[in-house]
Amino acid sequence: MTAWDAVAAHREGVPVLMPGHVWLAGAGPGDPGLLTLDALSGLQQADVIVHDALVDQRVLALAPKMARLEFAGKRGGKPSANQADITERLIALAREGRRVLRLKGGDPFVFGRGGEEALALAAANVPFRVIPGVTAGLAALAAASIPATLRGINRAVIFAAGHGADEDFDWAPLARAGQPIVLYMVMHNLRRIADALMAAGLASHTPAAIIASTATPLERVLISTLGKLAADAREQKCEPPAIVVIGEIVKVREQLQAAAACVPPPK
Ligand code: SAH
Repeated sequence: MTAWDAVAAHREGVPVLMPGHVWLAGAGPGDPGLLTLDALSGLQQADVIVHDALVDQRVLALAPKMARLEFAGKRGGKPSANQADITERLIALAREGRRVLRLKGGDPFVFGRGGEEALALAAANVPFRVIPGVTAGLAALAAASIPATLRGINRAVIFAAGHGADEDFDWAPLARAGQPIVLYMVMHNLRRIADALMAAGLASHTPAAIIASTATPLERVLISTLGKLAADAREQKCEPPAIVVIGEIVKVREQLQAAAACVPPPK
């Protein structure tokens, strides 16, 4: 018996993934330790697991041997051109009477296509359930010893997607909010977005960090400032997937890391 079986054996009211139903579940950012028990029970019950590229192999390895794994999602950061195909596939599998687990990196509703898939399943009358996951932004901050909020420093956190920065998006209100900004999908537009935030009034010495491949053996943390962030990322070859956090909250890392009691999570 594994540790998880032992936990599961004591759990009451485990939701049942019925034939013909779809669960849209978050797989967390990497380490299977960040799965919810509901996502784990979905993995154990599914006949078919439809996953995206951000779902860690260690998570997929928890699927029973009988379950079929199907890849559907983005590759190499390119937007998925075939979201309609994916939703069609989910609907078809459910109508065949399969127990379907749609597994997405992080949380299915945070900068993912979970909302679109839920709407499509609802329109097709396919019963579904959404299982939230640990989103990369919060997992990355935790891994880097950066609290998302701390009394006296901030009372809000801004989550923003940095892809398509050439689109007509106004970064100025985010800069003016004076609250930390956590950016997803930003590595290809880092300089442009940093410049826009500075043009809107954020000081170039504002603390900033990049947390790459969090909750995986490749995890890296780069500490910098808003003004130097893009150059540092390039110089240190910081690759996606990565989370960027900008704000005074980044400085708390030093205090926490200085404390001997702060034990980093296992990789
Ligand atoms: N639904 C996901 C986000 C999908 S968008 C979630 O809630 O986490 C994809 C972006 O998520 C990546 O470009 C990157 O910014 C971030 N991301 C996903 N996994 C990550 C990881 N293990 N480490 C750092 N960033 C990650």
